[in-house]
Amino acid sequence: MSTADLILANVRPLGGAASDIVIADGVISDVRLAGSGGTPNPDAVVEDGRGLLALPGLINAHAHVDKSWWGRDWVSYGGVATTQGRIEHERAHRAKLGIPSIDGVELVLREFLRHGTTATRSHVDVDLGIGLEGVEDVLAAAENLGGAVDVEIVAFPQDGVIRRPGVLKLLEDAVALGARSIGGLDPAGIDRDPVAQLGGLFDIVDRTGAGLDIHLHDPNELGAFQLDLIIERTLAVGAQGRVNIAHGFALGDTKGAAQQALLERIAEAGISWTTVAPIGTAPLPWRAMREAGIGLGLGTDGIRDLWNPFGDGDLLKIALQFARLHGMRTDEDLAAAVSLATSDAASFVHRDRHGLGVGDRADVVLLDAQNVQDAVVRTPRRELVVAGGRVVTRAGELTL
Ligand SMILES: [Zn+2]
Repeated sequence: MSTADLILANVRPLGGAASDIVIADGVISDVRLAGSGGTPNPDAVVEDGRGLLALPGLINAHAHVDKSWWGRDWVSYGGVATTQGRIEHERAHRAKLGIPSIDGVELVLREFLRHGTTATRSHVDVDLGIGLEGVEDVLAAAENLGGAVDVEIVAFPQDGVIRRPGVLKLLEDAVALGARSIGGLDPAGIDRDPVAQLGGLFDIVDRTGAGLDIHLHDPNELGAFQLDLIIERTLAVGAQGRVNIAHGFALGDTKGAAQQALLERIAEAGISWTTVAPIGTAPLPWRAMREAGIGLGLGTDGIRDLWNPFGDGDLLKIALQFARLHGMRTDEDLAAAVSLATSDAASFVHRDRHGLGVGDRADVVLLDAQNVQDAVVRTPRRELVVAGGRVVTRAGELTL
């Protein structure tokens, strides 16, 4: 038996019986009924869990940690409110806000930790203006925090691919630097050449083994057409399990038998999905997706940035928004919303599993809530957050 570094005494894992969670070397080494372990090792730190609810650390499966002005003076919203308008606005104003920067990324990651997010998949802008600076900054910021937040990077060509010659090379360079996936966006809507954009991206996926995590805002038939192209190419290069669609509003727009047929093809291609549950969009067929084995993750998207002033980095609030958007009211459905924000999202950060079991990375969030349903509906402050075995938040305030 390993020696305990930290014991979270008298906590209720997922609302179950009062238990002690024993942590050694950053990993959960034992979960036992509260007080049943005898006298703890004198070197172990014991935290009194006061009967609080314990959840696994939250996994933010779709973030943009490089482009926020979080922690700085308020920036008024401006520019044109279309995807292309936001891209232009961001490129015109980001430099004077110091975006990207290591400090800026750190401020966002710290806020994630304060809310109990211990792992994230973040898109990071790669373009002809800043090159790989954003990727380098995110890697440095994650390192500065000692790995408390497990950060996985998607090299994201926000400004387009085919219309910006040279970006494909940058994406490949980003993979060499440590990005696990490359991104893409609206091959039709932004590049106006879906065959060329997807051809370029899947060529990199095929040659490097990287994943593809592509933003698809294009709605209705235009979006469904591109989904079809992505499915075809995923199967053609054998990238099942490595491709994710972000947003994918077209799936919610598609109804009935056409939607079911699309789901079957998505499942066959091993494609997963991430959503930020935007208000006003068509709900996703989340239950049918789960039954089909399609992975679904939740994300905050960008918070407080040149795209929009909203968002505070609390993924539990996104789980609440997802539940409301999808009319999830039963205990079973509310628990499912919490699972989407935690254990179900393991694969989005390349983990085989994520939870409160023996052998899991010790990412634990304690909240003053009766059960998981109460936690997601009320989103109370995080009383204690443990990330990789370290206490990083106490009574809602960061300690690192
Ligand atoms: Zn996004």
